Amino acid sequence: MSKPNPFEIAQKQLDDCAKILNLDAGVHEFLRHPKIEYHLSIPVRMDDGSTKIFQGYRVQYNDALGPCKGGIRYHPDETIDTVRALSAWMTWKTSLLGLPLGGGKGGVICNPKEMSMGELERLCRGYIDKIWQNIGPDKDVPAPDVYTTPQMMAWMMDEYSKLTGSNNFGCITGKPLCVGGSCGRSDATARGGMYALREAARELNIDLSKATFAIQGYGNAGSFAHSLAKELFGGKVVAISDSKGGAFNAKGIDADEAARIKAETSTVANIPGAKKISNEELLELDVDILVAAALENVITKDNAGRVKAKIIVELANGPTTPEADEILFQNKVHVIPDFLANAGGVTVSYFEMVQNIMRYCWSFDEVYAKLDERMTMAYQGVLAASKKYNVNMRQAAYTVAVSRVVDAMKTRGWV
Ligand code: GLU
Repeated sequence: MSKPNPFEIAQKQLDDCAKILNLDAGVHEFLRHPKIEYHLSIPVRMDDGSTKIFQGYRVQYNDALGPCKGGIRYHPDETIDTVRALSAWMTWKTSLLGLPLGGGKGGVICNPKEMSMGELERLCRGYIDKIWQNIGPDKDVPAPDVYTTPQMMAWMMDEYSKLTGSNNFGCITGKPLCVGGSCGRSDATARGGMYALREAARELNIDLSKATFAIQGYGNAGSFAHSLAKELFGGKVVAISDSKGGAFNAKGIDADEAARIKAETSTVANIPGAKKISNEELLELDVDILVAAALENVITKDNAGRVKAKIIVELANGPTTPEADEILFQNKVHVIPDFLANAGGVTVSYFEMVQNIMRYCWSFDEVYAKLDERMTMAYQGVLAASKKYNVNMRQAAYTVAVSRVVDAMKTRGWV
């Protein structure tokens, strides 16, 4: 069976929203496609002396609300349609959080796990060499995403700064603290998701200190969700997984131990005393909270009916297909949709941009408080819209986000 196309899914979600909002046909059509996209051929000198050409992309979906914003993903399965979908979701994400930013996304087809640090640095610099004239603090500001790191952002910022002849820290976010990063950026995606979860649990009368959690995906978002579920709520994480498999222990899995095992054996599947499970099994566990923090299209019409969690926190982008959404809604599973649940990352990225412009540095507590305020407001706005239109949380989030983008486009005289 062929994999669902994420861009077709993003367009279908928008089409549903256009119906709810009764959008003008021309405006709707404009929002279904990226404003501009760049296809890059990036030559990289490999350690063995050969030259390899990497295919890269940057899609600037919509900048009605401000400069485009969104990460760069390094992944062997990257496609232009994945990047298009992710750039559309960034547009709705920044809008939903009330940030003065548009949406964009980048990607390179590569397998960073098989590349040396030197090769990765040359790829990062090569990416910027090809795109630097079309990005920048007032145009489009990249950030980390799947398999890209703060160190990579530092190389990209440095390359951009060299090419523009200035210390241009604000050209990219998710940087290490010593070169213009923000306190609280590293766990921002997970932390924002946990703030949204707190609101959802309050609405559904779920006591998170007694709740069980399963977390699919153990990259930046998933691993921090593990420690924060305990730290913020005292909740019990009973299952975790990564691309190589998963582990289940009804007594709970310790976050520090999981980090140690992952570092030693390159997977969390080997936790001592835990039962090995597959990613598919993890999604269907009888837990209160399911955190989907891996990749897109993992909850589909084939398994949605077997999801037992009361709340799904979508820390990944696009983990649920539209058919699955319908099934979950019927089964009263409360989904905190991706561009709400994982918006903490871009929100603290925005704080990083503001601090770079001010040449000032906020404390962790200041960042957390500002993030909490934005996430809570966004969650409550989506919940109110879901009640107003009697639609699921994703459709509700679309109505809020799309309305603001349309408003800006009209006010600017574009449509
Ligand atoms: N890649 C993250 C996302 O999907 C963060 C984007 C950003 O910080 O600009 O939201």
